[in-house]
Amino acid sequence: MALLEYANLSIALPGTARPVLDGIDLTVSAGEVVALVGESGSGKSVTARSALGLFPTGAHVDGHVRVDGTEVVGAGPAALRAIRTGTASMIFQDPRAGINPVRRIGDFLTEALRVSNGWSKGRADDRAVELLGAVGLPDPERHLRQYPYELSGGMLQRVMIAAALTAGPRLLLCDEPTTALDVSTQAEIMAILGRLQRERDLGMLLITHDIELAAAVCDRIYVMYAGRIVETAPTAQLFGAPRHPYTAGLLGSSPPLRAPAGPPARLTPIPGSPMGLLDSAPGCSFAARCRSARPGVCDRTPPPLEGHGTALVACHLAESLTATDNTATGEGS
Ligand code: SF4
Ligand code: MG
Repeated sequence: MALLEYANLSIALPGTARPVLDGIDLTVSAGEVVALVGESGSGKSVTARSALGLFPTGAHVDGHVRVDGTEVVGAGPAALRAIRTGTASMIFQDPRAGINPVRRIGDFLTEALRVSNGWSKGRADDRAVELLGAVGLPDPERHLRQYPYELSGGMLQRVMIAAALTAGPRLLLCDEPTTALDVSTQAEIMAILGRLQRERDLGMLLITHDIELAAAVCDRIYVMYAGRIVETAPTAQLFGAPRHPYTAGLLGSSPPLRAPAGPPARLTPIPGSPMGLLDSAPGCSFAARCRSARPGVCDRTPPPLEGHGTALVACHLAESLTATDNTATGEGS
């Protein structure tokens, strides 16, 4: 049984032209690191938040999300609380948005332990010190007495990771956990997340717009466009031979993490802009931006997500587009 499973999950908001999520199938097994990649507005965050039952207000939700076998869609408060304070935790992009600025770090970290476990202050403090050490903070005792403004963004994100670990979760949902941080801090935070994942055998869903980052840390990658999964494959395969033109476009527009010596690689942005919720397309959602689009086919019928070897791809031309075609996709030739 998957630790996290989405089965045909669709989410629609009133007054929009297309669903926010359209038939999402995605799994994360225990101990597996999976990335969900796409531009902003593609539905990545909505997907991640759905795992905790945090659906957009007024949304119509169809399909299933299961966390360790527990159905989240339609779940009552007790079941959701059990997931959020037990099996699964989430780390958000901006650590300052998730913490009360006028409370000490120690109070923030120990509250959940004291309320849900009935622990004494001393015992909860000991556990908080241990967690702050586990995320690599230099002086845990001192940090407990500090206020959020006294810590840098990177240190505060470590505090948020410590907070996410208080209940000993098995699933970590990370929504752009490094996007708000400077480059050197980004690498530190990813290293900490990677170490904790291995040490604790956590299942992890990493939400990112950065396909290079995803490739560096994940076993499998799902690529999302306009609320749909358009390609999924093991990382090496997706990276080496992307089949969907959008995947190829993301790879061609993203600077490599470890750039080779010599002149920097030419980056080619994907033309056009992502499809908003007020736009719809009768055929492939990516057709308006796709250099390989075939008139009369791509703009008429939505491509289903189908198996091609160990990949699943939603593109009418997935079989005929080679890696070379896709490399040429973004060359502007
Ligand atoms: Fe491009 Fe057509 Fe494939 Fe869509 S279905 S990605 S428009 S080639
Ligand atoms: Mg987002």
